[in-house]
Amino acid sequence: MNRSLLLKLAKQFDTPLYVYDADKIVSQYQRMTKAFSSVKNLKINYAVKALSNINILKVFKELNSGIDTVSVQEVQLGLRAGFDPKDIIFTPNGVSLEEIEQAMGYGVQLNIDNLSILEQFGQKYPNTPVCIRINPHIMAGGNSKISVGHIDSKFGISIHQLPHIHRVVENTGMLISGIHMHTGSDIYDVDAFLRATEILFNAAETFKDLSYIDFGSGFKVPYKEGDIATDIEELGKKLSKRFNDFCKQFGKDLTLMFEPGKFLVSEAGNFLVHVNVVKQTTSTVFAGVDSGMNHFIRPMFYDAYHHIENLSNPNGKERFYTVVGYICETDTLGANRRINEITEGDILCFHNAGAYCFSMASNYNSRYRPAEVLVKDGKGYLIRERETIEDILRGQVLIDS
Ligand SMILES: *Cc1c(COP(=O)(O)O)cnc(C)c1O
Repeated sequence: MNRSLLLKLAKQFDTPLYVYDADKIVSQYQRMTKAFSSVKNLKINYAVKALSNINILKVFKELNSGIDTVSVQEVQLGLRAGFDPKDIIFTPNGVSLEEIEQAMGYGVQLNIDNLSILEQFGQKYPNTPVCIRINPHIMAGGNSKISVGHIDSKFGISIHQLPHIHRVVENTGMLISGIHMHTGSDIYDVDAFLRATEILFNAAETFKDLSYIDFGSGFKVPYKEGDIATDIEELGKKLSKRFNDFCKQFGKDLTLMFEPGKFLVSEAGNFLVHVNVVKQTTSTVFAGVDSGMNHFIRPMFYDAYHHIENLSNPNGKERFYTVVGYICETDTLGANRRINEITEGDILCFHNAGAYCFSMASNYNSRYRPAEVLVKDGKGYLIRERETIEDILRGQVLIDS
């Protein structure tokens, strides 16, 4: 996003501030639909948990996207944003039968990720169509915290239990409308992804009532120059052809679904902070900013790399800094980074701050969560106010004594 616009927004709304670019979201969505344009029925369901501000959901609504939700609260958000229940898929893991029933009450498409609930649900509601989450056990994706398809993962029903799934389906007479996988995040190897889809096709073939196959997500985006990313165009070309062949063989035009979060919103986000202090120690120069793990946890939680730019001094001499937060924890946002010379008061910008950034923010250290701004048609709209002490106290009950 344009440097002077970001600086203007930081001045207008203060920092820490999240700024999202609607145009970038739209272009990523269109890139994806274009890559799969040879598939007759394509449905993209934006994964709400990546960034869940209702205004962001409305951007997807305008694009005719569906949404992917992992809690009944996300379903409710989606409905408030105006989504039709049939455009909402519910893909939680490890939730109670009650929560699935609640989602069923809203009329959304249900996804079941374990045999125990599948059996209980099938006995109670044999006529309600459901989708089954399969774990194909393909090792794909980034670090162990975000790779969820491996053998020890808690996610999905193991492909090796397909006979058991069939036994449940036959005994209950339930209707399997979809088959699904989501193997984790940061997949950059298209061929590994395609191997997982073959496993899913083999399973899909055995469900005669099927109307869709959901290939999940996990597409990797670039975090720095020269970074590897999922080649969505190559994947589109190869998987579309395979999918169309499968439909022919299956005898029905199925719907191809995806549920990307990161791919659609990561690059659209910028996180702006002020430098509070530049601190020289014996071995390092720290830049301490007015934020930390409470607002931006990915560097600590996932060892994620986020490019850091000094908006206030774009042509300054490059020097090495370790950028840290103000939280009473070791919250290193970027270690040993080459950044244009930093002076106290400068505004730094973290890139790729759209996905899993604000949505993972907390009030740790009793600090306010940041404000959020959406830039649309060149104009910045405040879409979340900065919190106040009342927000911190909200819900706390004072005991009379
Ligand atoms: C989190 C999640 C996604 C989105 O993953 P990204 O890596 O952000 O694309 C998709 N599907 C399910 C079921 C998820 O839990």
